[in-house]
Amino acid sequence: MKLIDGKKIAEDIRTEIANEVRKMIDNEIKVPHLAAVLVGEDAASQTYVTNKEKACKEVGFISSVYRYSETISEKKLLEVVEFLNNDEEIDGFIVQLPLPKHISPGKIIRAIKPEKDVDGFHPVNIGNMVLNLQGHVPATPYGIMQLIKRSGIETEGKHCVVVGRSNIVGTPVSILLSRNNKNANCTVTLCHSKTNNLKEICSSADILIAAIGKMEFIKADMVKQGAVVIDVGMHRIESSETKSGFRLKGDVAFDEVSKKCSMITPVPGGVGPMTIVGLLMNTLKAAKKEVYN
Ligand code: NAP
Repeated sequence: MKLIDGKKIAEDIRTEIANEVRKMIDNEIKVPHLAAVLVGEDAASQTYVTNKEKACKEVGFISSVYRYSETISEKKLLEVVEFLNNDEEIDGFIVQLPLPKHISPGKIIRAIKPEKDVDGFHPVNIGNMVLNLQGHVPATPYGIMQLIKRSGIETEGKHCVVVGRSNIVGTPVSILLSRNNKNANCTVTLCHSKTNNLKEICSSADILIAAIGKMEFIKADMVKQGAVVIDVGMHRIESSETKSGFRLKGDVAFDEVSKKCSMITPVPGGVGPMTIVGLLMNTLKAAKKEVYN
């Protein structure tokens, strides 16, 4: 069994992006600028935005955060989006989800200019992805596709089973892997909570992608001998063995599944580090005006 080292692959991509930024500076081209809009005090959202700022700094991007109280009205937030759409200094921005209940995420996402939608959630970008055209791809699926490509995983003609159909992970990754291109061309089965015979379907997968949100849900008896397993799940549990008092676990029962598969992503250090890298790659494309080339 071989570990798919997401930490190392993410580092390699960050180095490539930083080199690209240096070239832009040398050629007096504007440095990429990523902005985030953060509404309310959600702890996970705060952490994500802080990590994003750190990642921007590492590669030489400019980053800024627009913070608002959770009482902000939908109208005011739409004005903020409009302001960022028109600000030429900003190449791309995200509106961190979840939003408070009185604000429609769909309305906010649809208001973002597609070329600045570096989260890749706008219907124009989702449509381009479905049509196998250029555009921003949602960050986690983008990261997963890079993991597959850079680990030399053969996809053509393989049966890929994706468990979980969320708009941000399962559905886009199932689309990307079924497209007709070099790093896709799989036959894809997309499973969810109403799928019958889940165990049998998973056991027939050459590539199994777990994006369920249930800790250690995928057991060894659901995995084919020699399969490639990509674990998107992220669960923080208490641990007396770490300094922080916490450790991360995935949607896959790593200890038993890793004995059976040919390659697997660990948690942490697999898909996790690739998500912010996906966001950085989208922002670089936006800054270079290469989104729809
Ligand atoms: P989500 O929106 O909660 O979607 C979960 C999906 O799993 C749904 O489609 C659901 O089916 C399906 N599901 C739930 N129980 C199931 C079952 N018993 N059998 C089969 N399918 C089942 O989750 P998400 O946002 O996609 O996230 C999934 C996991 O990835 C979470 O652990 C999350 O923390 C993690 N995540 C990690 C990253 C990263 O950077 N590493 C990024 C995003 C998410 P229905 O549609 O029928 O309800």
